[in-house]
Amino acid sequence: MEQRKRIGVIGGGFAGLTAAYRLAHQGFEVTLWERNQYGGQAGTFPVGDTQLEIFYHHLFKSDTSIAGLAEELGIGDRLVWLPSNVGYFTDGKIYPLNGAKDVLKLGSIPFHDRIRLGAVTFYLQHVTDWKKYEKITAHDWLQRALGKRAYDKTLGAQLRAKFGRYYDEVAMVWFWGKIWLRTTSRRNPLDQEKLGYFTGSFRTMVDALVDGCERVGVTMRVGDPITSLEQVRDDKGWSVGTESIDQPEPFDAIIATVPSPVFQTMVPNLPQTYADQLGRLNYEAAVVAILELDRPLTDIYWLNIADDDMPFTGIIEHTNFVDSSVYGGRRFVYLSKYLEPDHPYFTMDDDRLIDEYVPHLKKVNLDFDQSWIRNTWVFRERAAQPIIPLNYSEMIPSHRTPLHGLYLANTTQIYPEDRGTNYSVRLGNDIAKLVQEDLTIFDRSRPGDVSSRLAD
Ligand SMILES: Cc1cc2nc3c(=O)[nH]c(=O)nc-3n(C[C@H](O)[C@H](O)[C@H](O)COP(=O)(O)OP(=O)(O)OC[C@H]3O[C@@H](n4cnc5c(N)ncnc54)[C@H](O)[C@@H]3O)c2cc1C
Repeated sequence: MEQRKRIGVIGGGFAGLTAAYRLAHQGFEVTLWERNQYGGQAGTFPVGDTQLEIFYHHLFKSDTSIAGLAEELGIGDRLVWLPSNVGYFTDGKIYPLNGAKDVLKLGSIPFHDRIRLGAVTFYLQHVTDWKKYEKITAHDWLQRALGKRAYDKTLGAQLRAKFGRYYDEVAMVWFWGKIWLRTTSRRNPLDQEKLGYFTGSFRTMVDALVDGCERVGVTMRVGDPITSLEQVRDDKGWSVGTESIDQPEPFDAIIATVPSPVFQTMVPNLPQTYADQLGRLNYEAAVVAILELDRPLTDIYWLNIADDDMPFTGIIEHTNFVDSSVYGGRRFVYLSKYLEPDHPYFTMDDDRLIDEYVPHLKKVNLDFDQSWIRNTWVFRERAAQPIIPLNYSEMIPSHRTPLHGLYLANTTQIYPEDRGTNYSVRLGNDIAKLVQEDLTIFDRSRPGDVSSRLAD
């Protein structure tokens, strides 16, 4: 009997879980390794008898890959669409920013600048040909379109908040993608925006995928980081090194879904051209503090902060999106900052970071008092946001590495959309298809299908 092809998947975030699920479903023998917890950047931690994301998470209506997978896994009804609202904090004041009417009331810039901002946003909402935005930075395009004063006070401030020292290198494609996604989240621009969330947190979706993987026979190894990957002599596949493996059996293919720098440490002998390609792509890191408060801080879910004196750039008040009754009345606020990993906040002691952050909350709510805080947590991610420079489509590393049987599928390969759980699901779907095609063509014999097992 033909032996089933063996595939190793590294990383149990949405990309790795989806790829493993698809390939095992096709009849391959799949093993998945996750270093830490399933869900990766969309991981959660327990709060009472439910879970909360380590980093704030929601979905847009355009996130059809993840919504489709949720349906397929039988939890479509757990994806709910909840009203949300956005605000903008500048010059010591919160401005609601939920559509054209609010833009016209944005008192931090003169009236004719507001008209210009509204017109530019409206224009971008209707652009579908994004290719032209590969050749110009968001900084140049937006400054020209809005005028320097309005740009500096609004979208320029947001770009600086997200991309730090890279803010004037990011291609306009990235910004266009953001506007476009938000637009498709509202059927009618005058409607209140609704965002998607899984009842029980994103853990619900992660658990469903893990269950799905187990049902189709994926061998799941959590808490078992891959330390090395080695090509077996005479092109006979790949052996993996982890702390727990003593007699590695070779895999026909390996899919790594980890960030590129992590991948490079696993395979130090990557051919130079490919290694250089990976090395040219950068990520912003993120540090996110979570406060549990005994009352609301504001009445806004997503508050962009445009104030250089504030140490964080977003206040995401989760319980203004998901009702606090879900958490037994407990309220959660994320304080978000994207930064370069050499920024002191990225390595600062958690308590010190919270001490630096907390006094600034009085700026958004004069009544705020430290005694409102019940608990705090701090989470960090080194590869939080790929930087998208000009002509990115020519820089994206291919999924097939130059080493036979070794594949890369990570967030730097998501384009032109911005990274997100939906696109990691899409990435997982795409890489599974590619690997399946490659293994089937190389061997001709298709592995057995296990759909009958699924029907059980
Ligand atoms: C602050 C923040 C807010 C976000 N908000 C949203 C949002 O609102 N909506 C949204 O859709 N997306 C959001 N995202 C993005 C989203 O979470 C990610 O794009 C997505 O989860 C990435 O999935 P992935 O599987 O591609 O990568 P990851 O989630 O990074 O998965 C990679 C996995 O590999 C594992 N790993 C690393 N090294 C090893 C090793 N040596 N061996 C084994 N395993 C290893 C990691 O532990 C990790 O689980 C946000 C991200 C951040 C940082």
